[in-house]
Amino acid sequence: MFKKILIANRGEIACRVIRAARELGVRTVAIHSEADRECLHVKLADESICIGPNPASESYLNIPSIISAAEISGADAIHPGYGFLAENTYFAEVCESCGITFIGPKKESIEKMGDKIAARELMMKSGVPVVPGSEGSINVDDPDIYKLAKKIGYPIIIKATAGGGGKGMRIVVTEEALKNAIVMAQAEAKAAFGNEDVYMEKYIEEPRHIEFQILGDQKGKVVYLPERDCSIQRRHQKLLEESPSPFVDSSLRKKMGKAARHAAEAVDYVTVGTIEFLVDKHGHFYFMEMNTRIQVEHPVTEIITGIDLVKEQIRLAAGERLSFDSKDIEIRGHAIECRINAEDPDRDFIPCPGKISRFINSGGPGVRVDTHIYSGYTIPSFYDSLIAKVITFGSNRNEAILRMQRVLKEFKVEGIKTTVPLHQRILDNDYFHKGDVCTDFLPKHIFGA
Ligand code: ADP
Repeated sequence: MFKKILIANRGEIACRVIRAARELGVRTVAIHSEADRECLHVKLADESICIGPNPASESYLNIPSIISAAEISGADAIHPGYGFLAENTYFAEVCESCGITFIGPKKESIEKMGDKIAARELMMKSGVPVVPGSEGSINVDDPDIYKLAKKIGYPIIIKATAGGGGKGMRIVVTEEALKNAIVMAQAEAKAAFGNEDVYMEKYIEEPRHIEFQILGDQKGKVVYLPERDCSIQRRHQKLLEESPSPFVDSSLRKKMGKAARHAAEAVDYVTVGTIEFLVDKHGHFYFMEMNTRIQVEHPVTEIITGIDLVKEQIRLAAGERLSFDSKDIEIRGHAIECRINAEDPDRDFIPCPGKISRFINSGGPGVRVDTHIYSGYTIPSFYDSLIAKVITFGSNRNEAILRMQRVLKEFKVEGIKTTVPLHQRILDNDYFHKGDVCTDFLPKHIFGA
């Protein structure tokens, strides 16, 4: 086991990793920007180091500063959390060449899954179903794209090869709109990822987003855990997640879980990762992408399986073997997570940083809140707007929903605007109660209502 882990992240996920490390008896080093001096992760860690000014490019993305901090503090491993450098092959490589363990998969696995076109090809070769689409990146000057789009059948979706967070996507309903959509998606992809490559896929109508948590050890064993349903999204970004999915029965779970395991095995996957699928109303499922890191929504899986995924991730990175199989896992009850963002619902959800004058947390049976905020804390404007994850457990889905409704009434963040009222509307919705949700639930049933 490691002696000291440096956490190359901030906020709630940095707190989550520090807590896991402490329970494993491992010391922790927090890094922070100047703006984050008062952030909770800095207070929770055994040691902390300021690594630079406020913009992420000069602090949480500054590889030389992070590596220096690890060397100065004597950390033998780095946990990247999610976002920032978590899926950066170069960072994983630098860690390795400095003799520091990157708590994540091998750099080759990140590389293979990081390019969505290459990942699609690899999945097809491995027998994992993918959405019908173009073989490689597409270009407006190529006359064949119109033929291909027709063959796939409208509507289609244009997606960025380097995509993430729903950026660089355009849905195209008619041939006339195709050219313009490609140009727009390329421009957005270039601005967001520095790579303008885009490809096309069939747009699956009214799909669910269902994903599988997988774990792999260094001896080549891979297991999958029960699915998470992340269909409640705003602009292709997840808002509320639950496990198990109200749509998936045990036979579909087994089929999809096995496909997820094959996908991970195809890249010799080690530690924790997620295989994301789109599922249509007939239960046909298609590989969408793999996230080669711990995910925001991991707690719902922890709650229904009793497995601490962050501790497992650290153990697996340290070379320990997986001690269980997928068939040993029982689903216990139901879990729901609401992502609470500092955003203003009355102004198109623009980020709403500022001082939290008062924070009253919820509690009671079956409640978990992962957060870095406290009364008097000022949310800086430089980073992600996620301020808390509220997770409830119930012996069944209905109890988890009722509990979440109770918890969100108690949970008070004063001084800034948050997405709590939006979650309350979702939780009150009849379609949501019936589990009748797909990725366009919000425009259809909440904003369109
Ligand atoms: P990102 O990496 O930007 O998060 P993903 O490929 O994971 O992109 O897709 C994010 C979301 O976009 C999905 O959860 C789904 O809502 C929507 N989406 C992506 N591809 C398709 C598709 N082929 N058909 C329908 N919806 C899609």
